[in-house]
Amino acid sequence: MHILIVGAGLAGVCSAWYLRTAGHTVTIIEREEAPALETSFANGGQISISHPEPWSNPAAPMTILRWLGRKDAPLLFRWPAEAARIHWGLQFLRECLPARTHRNTLAIAHLAAYSGNCLRALREANGLQYDSLSRGVLHLYFAKENYRHGETQQKVLQGLGIGARMLTPSECVDTEPSLARMETQLVGGMLGTEDESGNAQRFATELAKRCAEAGVEFLFNAHVERIVSIDNRISGVEIRQHGQHEILAADAYVVTAGSYSAPLVRPLGERLPIYPVKGYSATLQLTEPSKAPTVSLTDESRRIVCSRFGDQLRVAGTAELNGYNTELDPERCAALLNWVDTFFPNSYDPQEPHFWAGLRPTTPSNLPIIGHSRFGNLYYNTGHGTLGWTLACGSAQALADIVSGKKPQVEYPFQ
Ligand SMILES: Cc1cc2nc3c(=O)[nH]c(=O)nc-3n(C[C@H](O)[C@H](O)[C@H](O)COP(=O)(O)OP(=O)(O)OC[C@H]3O[C@@H](n4cnc5c(N)ncnc54)[C@H](O)[C@@H]3O)c2cc1C
Repeated sequence: MHILIVGAGLAGVCSAWYLRTAGHTVTIIEREEAPALETSFANGGQISISHPEPWSNPAAPMTILRWLGRKDAPLLFRWPAEAARIHWGLQFLRECLPARTHRNTLAIAHLAAYSGNCLRALREANGLQYDSLSRGVLHLYFAKENYRHGETQQKVLQGLGIGARMLTPSECVDTEPSLARMETQLVGGMLGTEDESGNAQRFATELAKRCAEAGVEFLFNAHVERIVSIDNRISGVEIRQHGQHEILAADAYVVTAGSYSAPLVRPLGERLPIYPVKGYSATLQLTEPSKAPTVSLTDESRRIVCSRFGDQLRVAGTAELNGYNTELDPERCAALLNWVDTFFPNSYDPQEPHFWAGLRPTTPSNLPIIGHSRFGNLYYNTGHGTLGWTLACGSAQALADIVSGKKPQVEYPFQ
């Protein structure tokens, strides 16, 4: 089959790889000049199998209320809100019910564990280099209630066969010595032993090269303006490239357009519950690498993560519901640097922070949408929210199975 993919972020490039490996002819259309220049560009770098619990959980409504009005709050709901945001917010609240959170957590955990295996196999088979480190993700708890919640999560993970162990403050420092100055403030930690970290953009760029070598066609600087349907099938996509309009046709179509997936398919009558949730990162050049961590960290109180890429440190966090706006708010950028200054002072060059903001394509449940649409030859692999790097390989392998008429090898509510 000839398959057209819309969007060359992590989801698109991985889909191209697994579809090509399954024997399909693949063309991938991307409006930017290279892969992974939008949300997949500068994320937190974590392959966080040990964090399947979605943002929408029973504790979320109270936590969000506590944060209201705080400019440095990890989650910011900017007003006035448009109808789409209010609608999404109500769906989010429904997903906070305990039974739904439980179901969503299990689904994400299964997909994340499967995805971790797919990533390792892909990396080893192809020798992909992307500053990957297999040293786990260390979750840090600075409040007793967060630690107790971590213990509950660890039991859930253990029950699913996912490696995670609780650590005392001194064990946290043994695991990551650069945390020494924070030891007295720590209540404890949890180490996700199967977790990893790595530069997602570098990974996507490397994998795109392998895709091209394997025969995948990339059309860059090509904007998909609309998807054309006849009855219950897609007949083509209209693209604009170098000022020219053209209709491209294939046997099947896969939408991997991140936060833009929902507006792209809306004219077809498809309603994808994806909202762009903005996050920030800062990439810092290390001047004293020994003062900075190599184990990827998640600060569970401040909702900040960091990962080490060679002699750089990436720190990321915050969630802002503010439409498709990617402007940098100086206060949010400063909050990231303050965090590094508190944890790892004098470790980086303060003259050269590289700030970035991206839009997480987020569903109310944080479950990505993978599989069929209402149209016989249109498929989705989108809506990966906070975990698009963690879930990239497994989601794409499953999508390739579905398109090829096979049953995916992972338990998940596919469409
Ligand atoms: C601050 C931050 C930190 C994060 N940290 C982590 C982390 O540590 N671990 C983790 O697992 N996940 C993390 N994520 C989430 C992860 O980065 C995303 O889920 C993932 O990058 C989404 O990938 P995607 O391919 O779906 O979207 P994108 O990367 O946005 O790709 C979509 C592509 O489609 C293209 N496109 C869109 N519309 C069109 C069109 N009409 N025509 C042509 N091309 C089009 C875009 O140009 C883009 O390249 C983080 C996200 C943020 C913002």
